[in-house]
Amino acid sequence: MKCPYCGVVDTRVLDSRATQDSSAIRRRRQCISCSNRFTTMEKLEEEPVVVIKRDGRKELFDATKILRGLLLAGQKRDIPLTTWQEVIDSLEQELRSNGVREISSDQIGALVLKRLRDIDEVAYVRFASVFRQFPDVETFKAELEDMLKEKKLT
Ligand SMILES: [Zn+2]
Repeated sequence: MKCPYCGVVDTRVLDSRATQDSSAIRRRRQCISCSNRFTTMEKLEEEPVVVIKRDGRKELFDATKILRGLLLAGQKRDIPLTTWQEVIDSLEQELRSNGVREISSDQIGALVLKRLRDIDEVAYVRFASVFRQFPDVETFKAELEDMLKEKKLT
């Protein structure tokens, strides 16, 4: 592994440990030449997921894009970043376990919304409206009423 500081290829591993969910191995390395330390991650190479946008354009699935949307939807709602990370993790896991290689941006939005619903109503509504997940206002209203009804029952 090439040292990011001096470019020498000889480094030694000081420490190896699995990440919390055991999906990757983190290695602490030290450059033999300049003694600087750095970290590398070893993880399974994942097959890319292609997202088909409404206008038909295709792009690679990008978790940071979803995170940006979630942060926007959750503004001033005091929702910890880890919650959003979990949303994205579980979304990626669902795509992976279903072997999804191509998915529309609308479907992604729906999968995110499904999770948001249980987390925060305001963020849910914001995400739904910003990303226009509903074909028309009536459908949106019906969905909201549904949600409120369920809330009252619990
Ligand atoms: Zn070095």
